[in-house]
Amino acid sequence: WYQCIDKAIRWTDGRLVRMEIAIDITERKEMERMKDEMISAVSHEMHTPLTAMLGFTEFLLENEVDRDQQKNFLRTIYKETERLNELINNFLQLQRLKASTVKFRISPVKVRLLLDDAVSLYAASAKNHRFSVECPPDLPPVRGNEEQLYQAICNLVSNAIKYSPEGGTIAIGAAADDGMITIRVQDEGIGIPPEFHDKIFDRFFRVDNSDRRKVGGAGLGLTLVREIVAAHGGRVRVESIPGKGSTFFVTLPVMR
Ligand code: ADP
Repeated sequence: WYQCIDKAIRWTDGRLVRMEIAIDITERKEMERMKDEMISAVSHEMHTPLTAMLGFTEFLLENEVDRDQQKNFLRTIYKETERLNELINNFLQLQRLKASTVKFRISPVKVRLLLDDAVSLYAASAKNHRFSVECPPDLPPVRGNEEQLYQAICNLVSNAIKYSPEGGTIAIGAAADDGMITIRVQDEGIGIPPEFHDKIFDRFFRVDNSDRRKVGGAGLGLTLVREIVAAHGGRVRVESIPGKGSTFFVTLPVMR
């Protein structure tokens, strides 16, 4: 893509020549395309939870329902609100990470607290799952932005729940080794075929099979995890066996 920024008419070699000065705007066009794609994917994903929230609230307002039914409906509204909240959070955080003008507060972060907080957040609404947290008491802190690291762990825990519909244990842990801390989030869910182990971290990528399509998502959660972890000098990877479960590993440098 080129954009003409100036025009001139000159005499060159006894002839009138029309000249145009153009700049290469391919990169800008690509950014605009990605932004449009992002906005349309996010709006599309917002539609489903909003429709469910409106429908169930309207039903509750207009009908007499017994207490159990009322609880069921409220649970659905809660889950959909949670989903919408997650989507908006991921979207906003990705935008903030890209905007180099935003400054993030950096401090020593205690990983154990992040893991415990993420578990208490999700354990309340996950009925089928058991949670375990394993973390040595003397684990050194990592240096970084607490809010971002918390968001990364929450995304992994949320996926572990989403993609293990039959329940099972979600085992979360952290350990230090050779100047690095490795956090793991392990589930006993549907797993991920090996050919997608890298791709799942790409923007908007979702493994496409009919089971997964029932689970909502815009394919931004793991992209945000990767970006946050990379911004902290770390990396994220997955080990998974389809039908048996997945373990995500986040490795971060220990604070010096
Ligand atoms: P979303 O969950 O919104 O689709 P993510 O970026 O969080 O987006 O995940 C990308 C894809 O990776 C998901 O659509 C899913 O197919 C797969 N995935 C992520 N976490 C897990 C997991 N714990 N178990 C199985 N599949 C997973």
